[in-house]
Amino acid sequence: MAETRETLTADYNTLLAKARDLFVLGWTQSLVSWDMETKMPPRGIALRSEQLAQLSQIGYRMATDPEVGKLLDKIEKNPNYETLSELEKRNVYLVRKNYDEQTKLPEKLVVDTAKQQAIAIDVWKKAKAAKNYSLFSPELEKLFELRKQAAEILMGVKKTATPYDALLDLFEPRVLSDQIAKVFSELRGSLVSILQKCVASPKQPDLSVIQRKVPANNQEEISKELARFLEYDIESKNAGGRIDTTEHPFTTGYYDDVRITTHYYEDLPASSLFSVMHECGHAIYEQNLNRDWMYQPIGVSSGYGFHESQSRFVENIVGRSPEFWTHFLPKLKSLTSNVFADVDLDRFVHAINQVRPSKIRVEADEVTYCLHIIIRFEIEKALFEGKVKVAELPGVWNQKYMDYLGVKIENDSEGVMQDTHWASGYFGYFPSYALGNIYSGQLLHKLDTELPSWRQQIIEGNFHDAKQWMAKNVHSYGALYDPVDMLKKITGEEINPTHYINYLNTKFSKLYEY
Ligand code: ZN
Repeated sequence: MAETRETLTADYNTLLAKARDLFVLGWTQSLVSWDMETKMPPRGIALRSEQLAQLSQIGYRMATDPEVGKLLDKIEKNPNYETLSELEKRNVYLVRKNYDEQTKLPEKLVVDTAKQQAIAIDVWKKAKAAKNYSLFSPELEKLFELRKQAAEILMGVKKTATPYDALLDLFEPRVLSDQIAKVFSELRGSLVSILQKCVASPKQPDLSVIQRKVPANNQEEISKELARFLEYDIESKNAGGRIDTTEHPFTTGYYDDVRITTHYYEDLPASSLFSVMHECGHAIYEQNLNRDWMYQPIGVSSGYGFHESQSRFVENIVGRSPEFWTHFLPKLKSLTSNVFADVDLDRFVHAINQVRPSKIRVEADEVTYCLHIIIRFEIEKALFEGKVKVAELPGVWNQKYMDYLGVKIENDSEGVMQDTHWASGYFGYFPSYALGNIYSGQLLHKLDTELPSWRQQIIEGNFHDAKQWMAKNVHSYGALYDPVDMLKKITGEEINPTHYINYLNTKFSKLYEY
């Protein structure tokens, strides 16, 4: 059959229908996983594993369906291809990218990796409990070798310079390790300098103003009040969100059904408070994707870094600001029957912004957080370049924690084994966290120029305009652009850590009077 404009349209529509099926299946998978974390009775686990395995097998078959490959070939070779719109071409590009990634990896490698992941996670939990890296090391080594094999294959598919770059591309498309190294080394110097000034300052926060007992039901009311402020609807008849409890907070869903989770520790009310703000930042992104693109490959977020830029914006840039607490502290006081009655604004804001070198990434403050990430990136890069061996990781890790943060790691559970990412085989994931912070600084800089009243509005309890700005400039673009192109489009700049560094310096020099 001759390839015409008509066959192009027909093939494109068939391709999109297949992409739609995959999208619907993906959401079903997320929902089944969400249920496992939030509602499933303990005995359901065996049955649930079967369900999840079957769904993921169906998803793999759909994504690697040879029919998809044929359609892609026909579309790309159609003499009328150039008549497709930018948006349609992007959809084709995204399907092609996913198809190539999934089909070029041999099935044996995929299966072996999945098995080794399950083993490594199980052994990691035991080794972490036993504070014994030597138990974990051989299993991590095997998993690393499998990911390296995948990286070498993906390197050919993605045409990257190194295997590690191919893995980075899975999380942060087209951001290269050399570029990250350059940006991170600039960031590292500035962070260490801010950290030293804060630590040396005579003005230190009084943590007793936040370390107070708040019953879980009161914390739930605080979460609802935060959701109202952020316009994340969990209450109305037409609500598209909900909050449940899990050990580790997360967000799942798209468009009209986006759910977050948190945990309520009675002695640590700040923990759920900021986790709710963080996850709401993720949720708002998903809810404000372009509705016209729902079910299309471009109708998803732009990737891990931009996602984190949104959660960190809400959690830190808004949630730890004096403007927000001018509005919210009176509410907090009235929701907690005066547990915080004696607390004044300045002391409270300083306490929630305490800067202190620590061993654990997830507990780190805004200044030290990226140092934790930079350490992980430097280690991953060295690992893939063959400069460090898996067995040597604790030594390298501990030395870097001493050099950058000045902390002594006493055992590997609070050191190299603290995160689940490597045990899960997610090499290349960590940099996105720090890139997200950098992007949030660049977005803030632009927001300050285009909506200079936004901080005043926060004082008045109005997040609407800032949220709309993010929706219009970030969320609504979906996956139309790769992160680097989107950043350029929104801010006119490449990845640039200066704005984030300036933001931190302005904020912390005031708090710590340096
Ligand atoms: Zn996050």
